Amino acid sequence: MKDGCPKCGGIMNKKKVTAEYSTGGKSGHVPVTYWECQSCGEQYFDAEALKRLLGSSESQDHQEENPFKTN
Ligand SMILES: [Zn+2]
Repeated sequence: MKDGCPKCGGIMNKKKVTAEYSTGGKSGHVPVTYWECQSCGEQYFDAEALKRLLGSSESQDHQEENPFKTN
């Protein structure tokens, strides 16, 4: 992303937004960082930010599966 926009080669601006999420009665806000092209307006999400956003909802499902449960 440091080499410019993959689409048009324009300058990318780092932007920060706060995304709202709600899963299973729980809700909150997560900071999301993304890149926006100055020329064409194309938006690219930070891989780390996406992981955090997806993890916030997926990790709750995984907690149901307890690997140490034997019965
Ligand atoms: Zn562009």
